[in-house]
Amino acid sequence: QKFVYDFTEGNKDLKDLLGGKGANLAEMTNLGLPVPPGFTITTEACKVYLDSGDAPKELRDEVSAHLDALEAKMGKKLGQADNPLLVSVRSGAKFSMPGMMDTVLNIGLSDASVTGLAQQVGGDERFAWDSYRRLIQMFGKTVLGVDGELFEDALEEAKTAKKVKVDTDLEAADLKKLVKKFKKIVSDEAGRDFPQDPREQMDLAINAVFDSWNTDRAKLYRRQERIPGDLGTAVNVCSMVFGNLGPDSGTGVAFTRDPASGHQGVYGDYLQNAQGEDVVAGIRNTVPLADLESIDKASYDQLMQIMETLETHYKDLCDIEFTIERGQLWMLQTRVGKRTAGAAFRIATQLVDQGLIDEAEALQRVNGAQLAQLMFPRFDDSAKTRLLGRGIAASPGAAVGKAVFDSYTAVKWSRSGEKVILIRRETNPDDLDGMIAAEGILTSRGGKTSHAAVVARGMGKTCVCGAEEIEVDTKRRRLTVGDTVVEEGDVVSIDGSSGKVYLGEVPVVPSPVVEYFEGRMHAGADDADELVEAVHRIMAYADRRRRLRVRANADNAEDALRARRFGAQGIGLCRTEHMFLGERREMVEKLILADTDNEREEALKGLLPLQKQDFIELFEAMDGLPVTVRLLDPPLHEFLPDITELSVRVALAESRKDANENDLRLLQAVHRLHEQNPMLGLRGVRLGLVIPGLFTMQVRAIAEAAAERREAKGDPRAEIMIPLVGTVQELEIVREEAEAVIAEVQAATGTDLKLALGTMIELPRAAITAGQIAEAAEFFSFGTNDLTQTVWGFSRDDVEASFFTAYLEKGIFGVSPFETIDKDGVGSLVRSAVEAGRKTRPDLKLGVCGEHGGDPESVHFFHEVGLDYVSCSPFRIPVARLEAGRAAA
Ligand code: ADP
Ligand code: MG
Ligand code: MG
Repeated sequence: QKFVYDFTEGNKDLKDLLGGKGANLAEMTNLGLPVPPGFTITTEACKVYLDSGDAPKELRDEVSAHLDALEAKMGKKLGQADNPLLVSVRSGAKFSMPGMMDTVLNIGLSDASVTGLAQQVGGDERFAWDSYRRLIQMFGKTVLGVDGELFEDALEEAKTAKKVKVDTDLEAADLKKLVKKFKKIVSDEAGRDFPQDPREQMDLAINAVFDSWNTDRAKLYRRQERIPGDLGTAVNVCSMVFGNLGPDSGTGVAFTRDPASGHQGVYGDYLQNAQGEDVVAGIRNTVPLADLESIDKASYDQLMQIMETLETHYKDLCDIEFTIERGQLWMLQTRVGKRTAGAAFRIATQLVDQGLIDEAEALQRVNGAQLAQLMFPRFDDSAKTRLLGRGIAASPGAAVGKAVFDSYTAVKWSRSGEKVILIRRETNPDDLDGMIAAEGILTSRGGKTSHAAVVARGMGKTCVCGAEEIEVDTKRRRLTVGDTVVEEGDVVSIDGSSGKVYLGEVPVVPSPVVEYFEGRMHAGADDADELVEAVHRIMAYADRRRRLRVRANADNAEDALRARRFGAQGIGLCRTEHMFLGERREMVEKLILADTDNEREEALKGLLPLQKQDFIELFEAMDGLPVTVRLLDPPLHEFLPDITELSVRVALAESRKDANENDLRLLQAVHRLHEQNPMLGLRGVRLGLVIPGLFTMQVRAIAEAAAERREAKGDPRAEIMIPLVGTVQELEIVREEAEAVIAEVQAATGTDLKLALGTMIELPRAAITAGQIAEAAEFFSFGTNDLTQTVWGFSRDDVEASFFTAYLEKGIFGVSPFETIDKDGVGSLVRSAVEAGRKTRPDLKLGVCGEHGGDPESVHFFHEVGLDYVSCSPFRIPVARLEAGRAAA
């Protein structure tokens, strides 16, 4: 086994072995670009080290061999006193990971070689001592674990003593003193002297990189991002080049195109006379990359040439790190660069136009999460704003409202029609009501997995968390940022996509992408936005390729029409329960309170025409497309008054001796129907079986509505769906009754209605006996919300607010199983039910109608297990279309 690869031996496809940085350094080397020579120690070596606590035996020899070769190439020896070779030791895992070790530069410097380094560069003592103090600082901090602030403070002191502002104003003698101080800090804090032997420096740094794979922060990050824990990191040893050799030297970062807009051009920052991280650390002001043209035209031209080479080679936007050493350009890193959601769409289509990638590849360059981000309303860019602070963009959206500092006030104010932003130091389950009532949530503590962030994302509510500059004072009901005080009732605006918090109302504009989907903006029009053009094209690529059809969950004509504009190919779930609310509640009460068959039939007769009218409108809106109507699902008590409120009302009335008969009966019914676990109680098909006439009334309404649409020359395509079936017997009984009603309506109207009857698969028993159930069902729709709830034994309405935060923090799952389907558990039941169902009935139609139908990762899973369609809320349809296309591309 080979543990070390020279940069000339690797390539970009060896990321597993060489890490991202190492693979790309090798790729650039082989493209003939100027990369300082070096070598990469593989992730395999790291794995051995982590498993056995020691580097593999062969590693030392292999490193020696590669170091010899490097020394020969460079004509210098590592740390040699009169002519030292210096190297950097850089971590580099397959995926870039915060929490891993920082890079150590200038390895090989010591008391002996620091003067040799000065001579190498023509006697620049200042430079040599500056490099040495940087080494001790970085090495002390990242390899020996010394608190970095001690060095920072000592550096500050040196500058103050000298009355200068920036580090470049320190002279050789000052830096020499600083080195002494730094060495003392190391011996005091690390319990050992700073190592003077260059090879020992290098080996310690290599092991420190290996060890950094297992820091708590790195582990947590991996669990959350679902990066396997056993990949290990590679280590890059790279000969040093110096950007801190005076004004004809410098270091910079660049993008091959604008990561915000995707436009080609010169984007980046450059800093003269600087090393390594100085550019990003903001210690001095950088200049725009374009200025390099006037500073060093030859290097600038060469850099532009290289950027073009990289783009054509990687066929994507790249970001790069480079250094210029006395007029000589060196490439230190490149990778396919991160970009904003909008730029991802634009770049993908630009690359298609440039002939660099094809449509299928373009689909892989974007994703549904980015599209969802582009669909949120946003703050008007042109508006004047007053920034209060900035936190973590935890849940996207633009929310404006009056500041409130507790849940009670949030609920109270929102009831009286106010829009509020709930502001807390951090939230806990007690804040849930307030979070529901608020337009958005702002916290000053906590990260992306804090309670506020997790719950807000679950609710699709805008959230900024961990805005640390903001001091929240719950007692005095206000927040302060510096001198600014925001009192309860003052208006604030929060941007969940950027994490920015503003004082006052920032105007909100709808996203152009939604305007486009709604048909209010057209691609190809003169004033169409560039982004809209790109989205339009990518959606066409996706629609051309996808196999999954996309339907909507919609209960009324208005939602159905919107869904249709968004590209829905039918309704996968029409919930009928809303049709029982509002002024119809009284009739439902009558139904529940009915003592005799007569009373019940009366009540049902009252409901029938109303239901029918709902369906007529829906079928008209969805003319020509399938509409799956689910018969009544929720437990009846949901249609009755709240038990406590009613009890109080009755008790008060009784004390006044004017209790009303109906209230008393209602109260009895409420008690009779009260359940400890309503979710597992009398609902779905169970209701249909115990309340005579309920389901048949609904079926009749559907059938008559369909018949009427036919008469009006429409093309209704209704499908009747029975919820919460656990056994085929339940379905058979309902089916028989339904068929009788349908036959009656057909006979009376003389039309063949072609109504399909099917069931939801949302109980484990239904999934397990899917083969039997398929005998009575023409279609299955997987209700993955209930299925997740019953397979895990998680109460969906409670767990997100109670222990999910802890579960996410502990990495038990990276994302709630209610958000992304749990493939191993719930998903495996879906998969076997699909197989069993199709075995019984090869033309069984299969879909999903849970929240998962609009979740990107879940859509890929449903594609893979062979469903015919996914159904999701209207707003998610474009995301589902895109992901279905990506899954098939
Ligand atoms: P990160 O992964 O944090 O980007 P890098 O390994 O890229 O860490 O290194 C940090 C900084 O040090 C970068 O700015 C890089 O350009 C610089 N650097 C790394 N190796 C060398 C080297 N051999 N010569 C000069 N600068 C280097
Ligand atoms: Mg870097
Ligand atoms: Mg359900």
